[in-house]
Amino acid sequence: MSLMEQIYKTVILERSRTPRHRGVLDDPAIRQEGVNPSCGDELTLSLRIEDGVVQDAKFEGHGCAISAASADLMLDALHGATVEEARSFSAAFKAMIRGEPVPTHLDLGELTALEGIRHLHARVKCATLPWTTLEAALDGATGPVSDEA
Ligand code: ZN
Repeated sequence: MSLMEQIYKTVILERSRTPRHRGVLDDPAIRQEGVNPSCGDELTLSLRIEDGVVQDAKFEGHGCAISAASADLMLDALHGATVEEARSFSAAFKAMIRGEPVPTHLDLGELTALEGIRHLHARVKCATLPWTTLEAALDGATGPVSDEA
């Protein structure tokens, strides 16, 4: 079995086919668009943050299985997280997917199912897109963001 097949057999397929957090939140919520031109992934993230805690979060968009699964698993981790925890998760996830050391005190849980994507260089931005979009939302960005540096 190829690495790609192994990765697709995991949680990625299940989450991309039957996401748990698909949708758009009504106002008042932060909405942020993210795009990954190298694959054609587009997503819109909605966040409702009250008292520094993520009360609700959803995503909608068109993208590959990896970007959709990463978004859905990210939203699992975000529900009930503080803004600081959300930023820490994002830094840890990006470190994992780029093959860098991950802070050991953070448990990425099911997100570790995506770890193998670090070997698929062309798809790393698919996995990081939801997180880059999250960071932009927390930073109050105006307009769509992408990981293109
Ligand atoms: Zn993609």
